[in-house]
Amino acid sequence: DSVAPSMPSIASSRREHRWGDTNPYAVKKKLQSWFQLPNRNWELGRILSTSGAESVISLPNDKVVTVKTEDLVSANPDILDGVDDLMQLSYLNEPSVLYNLQYRYNQDMIYTKAGPVLVAVNPFKRVSLYGNEYIEAYKRKAVESPHVYAIADTAIREMVRDEVNQSIIISGESGAGKTETAKIAMQYLAALGGGSGIEHEILKTNPILEAFGNAKTLRNDNSSRFTDLLLCLFPLYDIVLLEKSRVVQCTEGERSYHIFYQLCAGAPPALREMLNLKSADEYQYLKQSNCYSISGVNDAEEFSVVKEALDVVHINKEDQQSVFAMLAAVLWLGNISFSVIDNENHVEPVEDEGLFNVAKLIGCGVDELKLALSTRNMRVGVDSIVQKLTLSQAIDTRDALAKSIYACLFEWLVEQINKSLAVGKRRTGRSISILDIYGFESFDRNSFEQFCINYANERLQQHFNRHLFKLEQDEYIQDGIDWTKVEFEDNQDCLGLFEKRPLGLLSLLDEESTFPNGTDLTFANKLKQHLSSNSCFKGERDKSFAVSHYAGEVSYDTTGFLEKNRDLLHLDSIQLLSSCSCHLPQIFASSMLNRPEKPLVGPLYKTGGGVDSQKLSVATKFKSQLFLLMKRLENTTPHFIRCIKPNNLQSPGLYEQGLVLQQLRCCGVLEVVRISRSGFPTRMSHQKFARRYGFLLLENVASQDPLSVSVAILHQFNILPEMYQVGYTKLFFRTGQIGVLEDTRNRT
Ligand code: ATP
Ligand code: MG
Repeated sequence: DSVAPSMPSIASSRREHRWGDTNPYAVKKKLQSWFQLPNRNWELGRILSTSGAESVISLPNDKVVTVKTEDLVSANPDILDGVDDLMQLSYLNEPSVLYNLQYRYNQDMIYTKAGPVLVAVNPFKRVSLYGNEYIEAYKRKAVESPHVYAIADTAIREMVRDEVNQSIIISGESGAGKTETAKIAMQYLAALGGGSGIEHEILKTNPILEAFGNAKTLRNDNSSRFTDLLLCLFPLYDIVLLEKSRVVQCTEGERSYHIFYQLCAGAPPALREMLNLKSADEYQYLKQSNCYSISGVNDAEEFSVVKEALDVVHINKEDQQSVFAMLAAVLWLGNISFSVIDNENHVEPVEDEGLFNVAKLIGCGVDELKLALSTRNMRVGVDSIVQKLTLSQAIDTRDALAKSIYACLFEWLVEQINKSLAVGKRRTGRSISILDIYGFESFDRNSFEQFCINYANERLQQHFNRHLFKLEQDEYIQDGIDWTKVEFEDNQDCLGLFEKRPLGLLSLLDEESTFPNGTDLTFANKLKQHLSSNSCFKGERDKSFAVSHYAGEVSYDTTGFLEKNRDLLHLDSIQLLSSCSCHLPQIFASSMLNRPEKPLVGPLYKTGGGVDSQKLSVATKFKSQLFLLMKRLENTTPHFIRCIKPNNLQSPGLYEQGLVLQQLRCCGVLEVVRISRSGFPTRMSHQKFARRYGFLLLENVASQDPLSVSVAILHQFNILPEMYQVGYTKLFFRTGQIGVLEDTRNRT
């Protein structure tokens, strides 16, 4: 095999990590244990002596310390260093899992299995694990090391074999590598795409979604601000939640969407003139965060890449120009300022280039625009009255307009991409979906966005648990063991807290959003009044409350919840946009109000402030999109990839134990480990067990068949009946049981 020697991962998988019959490393070794240092990092120590409650251990720096025996956590024998699958560890504790991942990470083996889950630790550098040679090797099954390619390969095979749609569900926190991983999976599908080439086309359209949907954040220079489900072989992007607020508001050091900077830097002279385009630092929306460039990225060049991708999806030049005009309109909207016109603080837009440019770009009259930005039509009974806006109301209206133009544009682009991908392809056959979703988020301050994201993750976690449970159950049933002794935790209580009607978080939020006098405070109080009996809910000070999620407790600050949930775009703005003569009226025509074809889960409600457009709340829309997504996923065989970010500096070679541990907990990897622990994770065939430990028997066994020998060993070592199960072909053990046998074996 000519490729194999250059592949570190292959070399490693050839080392016999599994319970081999001969153990080349079987030197007599001293017992090792994990000990937690005051900085909470784990250190491996050798146990020198133990006397009851205290043990003396020596640490790698030759320091000898006395510790409480109960604080020591069992370490695995060296033979298990860097195993491919965490399930092979005989002690499945946190330090062992952390150490195993780190051991591999240091050798650029960024992928490790945790049972059915693939764990990917972000290398933050180029690792030579990709490309055609590797694809070929995985296709031929010449390699067994865990890899995204292996997951994609399994998905394809199972799709063909079982005729069932597949999904690859990628999660992890921002910067952990979800989007890169999705692209790597696509690469593999593209190479094996059976000649339809659809995956190649999808990869080519990627620059568009990245330009319009990604931004530089403090955590990731290229952070996706939307969640997407990509169905290939049956191509369709499904965008679930776009962070709209970024268009008008952005934290110091972060950027708005890449496309704005690309346009400013890369537009050719003719286009610049047509759009009255300035440089990025002349636009308020881009200026506020004081960050214009990303190191190593040339925005002007990226602009050409995006234009090419727009060609690929058959968006004609005229439409492309309209797209750029809408972007310029958004930028110019941010430059519109207001002056006070009376002593009641009512305002009017200043007639400057900002106002004129927006009117020109979206194709409406200056007066119409002025009116839409400074007044609101109110209906009182059958009459209609015109209300003037104050400064803060006018700014909100202006920003709402900018956000919705951008959101419509994004939605339109996704639609165009989907159309072009679907051209000429019959929508039959099976599909593989790739889901790139924000992971669980918990910051110092958590707002509406985290509320939605964590709710979605709670749903996905349930999906994950159920799937895992089923897999385990299947194996136990197949081998005839009693699986009722395996306990699994469910997060149904937490989901209930969100979804119950009428007294759940989402219902109460919608209810409060419909009250004209509802505020964030009245909302928070209502939650405390109605939900305090739920064990997953905790009322907190002022406008805050906490939820016990599967990944930990998160405290939410309700400031801005109602406004974000209502997502008001006043009728005046809607009318303005649907009557304007810009060249993409179809963008606005349908998007402004909710589409009838979208499922209407939850109540329709009348927005506050007297506007009587019927509109779904953001939370309700999010929930119904999430349900659609889950429904689609339910009909697939899932494959899970959990991405881990080993440090917050986006820097290679740095592995921070605490940070990794926290993510392992959040993304359910330790949960998998825990679930397996409550089951019988160590499995060995009767034969293998008898061969490996038979020589330890002190008395002869009457019958030499593997099962009898195995049972005799179990008795001799006093392995308690609740610690194992005997299956038709295998023995199933609780965690740690094999460790005792193995230690004895090594000492003998
Ligand atoms: P977000 O939620 O913010 O969108 P994400 O999980 O999608 O984050 P990515 O954008 O995929 O994160 O990854 C962040 C960065 O990490 C990439 O830009 C790249 O530099 C690096 N990275 C991730 N995976 C790999 C990999 N397999 N090889 C090399 N670099 C990687
Ligand atoms: Mg991403």
